[in-house]
Amino acid sequence: MFRLFTTLIVSALLATGAFAQDAKRSIAKIAGDVYRFQNNFHFNIFVVTPDGVVVTDPINKEAAEWLKAEIGKITDQPIKYLIYSHSHGDHASGGAVYTDTAEVIAHKNAPEAIDGVAPTTRFDDAHTVKLGGKTIELSFLGKGHGNDLIAMVVRPENVAFAVDAVSVNRLPFRDFPRADIGGIINQIKAVEGLDFDILSPGHGKMGVKSDATAHREYVEKLMASVKAGLKAGKSVDDLLTELTLDEYAGWGSFKAFREPNIRGMARWLKESGGI
Ligand SMILES: [Zn+2]
Repeated sequence: MFRLFTTLIVSALLATGAFAQDAKRSIAKIAGDVYRFQNNFHFNIFVVTPDGVVVTDPINKEAAEWLKAEIGKITDQPIKYLIYSHSHGDHASGGAVYTDTAEVIAHKNAPEAIDGVAPTTRFDDAHTVKLGGKTIELSFLGKGHGNDLIAMVVRPENVAFAVDAVSVNRLPFRDFPRADIGGIINQIKAVEGLDFDILSPGHGKMGVKSDATAHREYVEKLMASVKAGLKAGKSVDDLLTELTLDEYAGWGSFKAFREPNIRGMARWLKESGGI
């Protein structure tokens, strides 16, 4: 009996990927025919239609292979489109898994090849994909987090997929690496300007449009506070102590990212001449 119990526990741990080298992967339906795929701390969306499937960020080769097999259990239809949110390697690796059947779409600023995959369609401000009764509206968000970041809105479900510039009740990643923070604020405004009901970000939980607004307001308040402190002659270490950002203590990654957020903002203000 005890041995059986132990075997069950071990099986359950294996199934949930609790062992270190196993990725945490799952698929959840967002609305209608729009699904959300989680691979550890990264998320994408995919859309199943009677005429084919649209996938987004491959994340990495192993994640894409796993998702491709799972999509095969949902539908017999081939994957017709692969759409990149942007070209950063942690979201955009492994796209070659899909190129046997998929047309590849990315913003025109994306590199010639993304992890070896050359986009077949590039666009500037906006592009629309229509497939099997679904419409996917692609919008360039401008420069900020990278220079090739787009948002996608799937209709009729009105689900938005927006990556890295925006998240839901969660502090921005570390010290705003590789980012133009003023540009990020404009990218979030661009997301706020889209027409959608559900926001599915590339990291963390889902939300609605007002969560994008709250995220922008966090970045703007952080910018104003750090700028005021630096102008008053305070050091970054002073600001790390003073700027407790208490009203955001309930947000995800608060403990991990409050200090790097302040440091990154101070660095960007100095580098960009904002201080
Ligand atoms: Zn990124």
